[in-house]
Amino acid sequence: MKKENSWMMNLTPEQLHVIRDHGTEAPGSSPLNYEWREGVYQCIACHAPLFKANMKFESGCGWPSFFSVINGAIETEVDTSHHMKRIEVHCARCKAHLGHLFQDGPAPNGERYCINGIALNFERQIK
Ligand SMILES: [Zn+2]
Repeated sequence: MKKENSWMMNLTPEQLHVIRDHGTEAPGSSPLNYEWREGVYQCIACHAPLFKANMKFESGCGWPSFFSVINGAIETEVDTSHHMKRIEVHCARCKAHLGHLFQDGPAPNGERYCINGIALNFERQIK
């Protein structure tokens, strides 16, 4: 993230570290690892809808994982930090860093969006 904006005013230092400084939460630390109810996962900073509950799967990696994404909600960028070549994932609207995209997900696309739970806001939908 390049500059501060009003969306970030209510965020904690831990949240800001992840979304602005490309931090990573400790694996297994997010309550969203155990969230399986119907709903939408929003960007913690600007509340843009990013993932639907039916796009989430248990990858066992310790971070909330998704095999798909709401159309146009996220952007990716090649990230060569930590001596690895990874695909960085951020919010298309406010550029908040979310996590990384790996190619070891389930069929048919084989994609795994490995997302910091701290960068997400879960909005439950009651049917
Ligand atoms: Zn955002």
